[in-house]
Amino acid sequence: MASGRVDLDGNPIKPITICMIGAGGFIGSHLCEKLMNETPHNVLAVDVYNDKIKHLLEPSGSGELSLAGRIQFHRLNIKNDPRLEGLIKMADLTINLAAICTPADYNTRPLDTIYSNFIDALPVVKYCSENSKRLIHFSTCEVYGKTIGCFLPNDSPLRQDPAYYVLKEDASPCIFGPIEKQRWSYACAKQLIERLIYAEGAENGLEFTIVRPFNWIGPRMDFIPGIDGPSEGVPRVLACFSNNLLRREPLKLVDGGQSQRTFIYIKDAIEAVLLMIENPARANGQIFNVGNPNNEVTVRQLAEMMTQVYSKVSGESSIETPTIDVSSKEFYGEGYDDSDKRIPDMTIINRQLGWNPKTSLWDLLESTLTYQHRTYAEAIKKAISKPVAS
Ligand code: NAD
Ligand code: UDP
Repeated sequence: MASGRVDLDGNPIKPITICMIGAGGFIGSHLCEKLMNETPHNVLAVDVYNDKIKHLLEPSGSGELSLAGRIQFHRLNIKNDPRLEGLIKMADLTINLAAICTPADYNTRPLDTIYSNFIDALPVVKYCSENSKRLIHFSTCEVYGKTIGCFLPNDSPLRQDPAYYVLKEDASPCIFGPIEKQRWSYACAKQLIERLIYAEGAENGLEFTIVRPFNWIGPRMDFIPGIDGPSEGVPRVLACFSNNLLRREPLKLVDGGQSQRTFIYIKDAIEAVLLMIENPARANGQIFNVGNPNNEVTVRQLAEMMTQVYSKVSGESSIETPTIDVSSKEFYGEGYDDSDKRIPDMTIINRQLGWNPKTSLWDLLESTLTYQHRTYAEAIKKAISKPVAS
């Protein structure tokens, strides 16, 4: 573990205790790993699951101390557990990652989505504010919704002008579809909790940082349906496409796969979060886009690239029809809608933390799909060869 580490202003970094809510998820597991391997900080890891951080908790998981006592798992649901306030009080900093954050849930379970992203986050904000504890809250790039450019005529040259699509924390509007498009229940709940945190900062002096992730991807993201998650579950696009590739099925392109995304490697993004943790004077009061503007593709291009990369890492040729088109209604059900394009402006994070993403889309897919193949290929083969129970 590093000693004599200094912050961006040359001051020594003192070990702190972090209450990390949602530590057992995709981002939480990578953040815990980073904190354990490269810093002297302590983590109170809060979640209802711990499978993705089991390797950091020994010998058997729940309640055990490990890594010289620096990470401790607390299995609790923040909806209804009185232990939450005590854990926040014990820590110097709280990081809230807990959320329902898979698009398949936004239009099919809008109530759970709104409760999880707004109501359940309220006590966390309140306890931080009342106890004068710093908060890093995970929001989403989806709070921007659609770009201004997508409302211009298709042939308008202004569509090529970055002023109409680049998403800026302190300038861009939040543009959601109508209420019946329940897809926006998530974005709207996240927007309101951002506004509440901002108001706690303005009126009560809460020290906060808001993170807006732009499609962070990598190993341990979501689940592979029927292997380590429900057979009928619909995870985010990386896991959907990985599942299709592992099963040698065509990748499903929702509404033609025309939406655009910028993908960032989880390890690059975690570097940014560590800078926020260790440079409070530069991060407090800020809202940060964290993404990789250089890794933009349409979902169709993502499918094509993942097919090529998977062939390379698995040694298997791709199938004859690598992709098929599906309607959003068929794939997600009634009330789905989509963000058209997501390019993060990097000015604020660059100015405050001097951070830039490094990994190209090809490279991050190569390491991620190598992990997916190594982790799941055998299990999928077994599952496919099992006779279906009659
Ligand atoms: P994830 O689903 O892998 O992790 C969320 C974790 O929170 C899960 O382990 C879950 O069990 C836990 N959790 C949920 N409700 C809880 C509760 N009531 N009590 C205790 N634990 C609870 O998701 P992730 O990708 O790691 O995302 C983390 C955060 O980042 C979320 O707030 C999400 O909205 C935001 N985000 C992520 C991305 C991304 O690219 N991964 C993009 C936009 C926003
Ligand atoms: N998508 C797709 N096929 C899939 C899963 C997702 O075409 O099997 C599309 C989805 O419609 C969206 C994009 O991929 O346009 C990214 O979806 P994801 O679930 O990762 O979340 P989002 O970026 O929309 O928050």
